[in-house]
Amino acid sequence: ATPTALMVGTGRGAQLGILIKGPEVLESTRRVDTIVLDKTGTVTTGEMTVHDVVVAEGESVDDVRRLAAALESASEHPIGRAIAAAAGVPEDAAYVIEPGSRPPRPQLPVVEDFANREGLGVQGVVEGHAVVVGRPSLLADWAQHLPPSLDAAVQRAQGEGRTAVAVGWDGRARGVIVVGDTVKPTSAQAVAELRDLGLTPILLTGDNEAAARHVADQVGIETVVADVLPADKVAEVQRLQAAGKVVAMVGDGVNDAAALAQADLGLSMGTGTDVAIEAGDLTLVRGDLLVAVDAIRLSRRTLGTIK
Ligand code: ADP
Ligand code: MG
Repeated sequence: ATPTALMVGTGRGAQLGILIKGPEVLESTRRVDTIVLDKTGTVTTGEMTVHDVVVAEGESVDDVRRLAAALESASEHPIGRAIAAAAGVPEDAAYVIEPGSRPPRPQLPVVEDFANREGLGVQGVVEGHAVVVGRPSLLADWAQHLPPSLDAAVQRAQGEGRTAVAVGWDGRARGVIVVGDTVKPTSAQAVAELRDLGLTPILLTGDNEAAARHVADQVGIETVVADVLPADKVAEVQRLQAAGKVVAMVGDGVNDAAALAQADLGLSMGTGTDVAIEAGDLTLVRGDLLVAVDAIRLSRRTLGTIK
């Protein structure tokens, strides 16, 4: 490929809302046959809302909400932001906050020894309690097994395509906070167009299988790889590459960065975290999956003219 034609490609990319790290990036794009899509924040809006708070017998809804919100106010994860924001909603307000709205934030307790466990959850000391908020399995790791009532709440939430986050402190599981977001309006069309370009889409997520299936069905993806830890996202890309696939990956989170770097072509959502943006080869400025389709078309066209 001649440098001039590639420069034309990158200029056209900027007009479409695609930032390209270097002209050579378009070269690898042409051969891509598989596209791995992160779920939260890539196929879905990533604007999570809290739908429900369920507590174990004898526990207080208010305590579960307050301690979880305090801890999550230190987190940048979409789930964390939703739980922190929901602390401002009165207890009888059905816990639903519309995306984008900002309820008043009450004074939240101070958090000490905060730690983010990427792809799992968060932990810290709040009001003298060692609090954990995250995947139900994270609490199970700490021998905080969910009582049957909470386990049922997790199953129910997941069956509805939602994500259940467990809250525990001082060695006991206390409650479950149910969160969820919605598919972006352009995602289904983008998946259809990616297929038309001959690409096989795969949904890859750290979220639970049922929530992932729910999203996959809405946008027309058949292959789902769920419950994946951040370190295993990169392993999944490597596995596809070892099977001879040329892999594009689209993602937005800290947990996607390694996979974006490993992919033959990494596309980052411009609405995502800085770490993800740095790891990608291309940035989709508006965070719209249809622009990923434009990027692949553009590279094929650009390189097509100079063959
Ligand atoms: P995704 O691949 O969908 O972007 P992540 O890898 O970021 O998901 O997270 C996977 C799972 O880990 C979430 O579905 C949630 O259960 C849990 N989790 C991650 N971060 C947090 C957090 N800050 N608070 C609560 N749960 C979290
Ligand atoms: Mg994500």
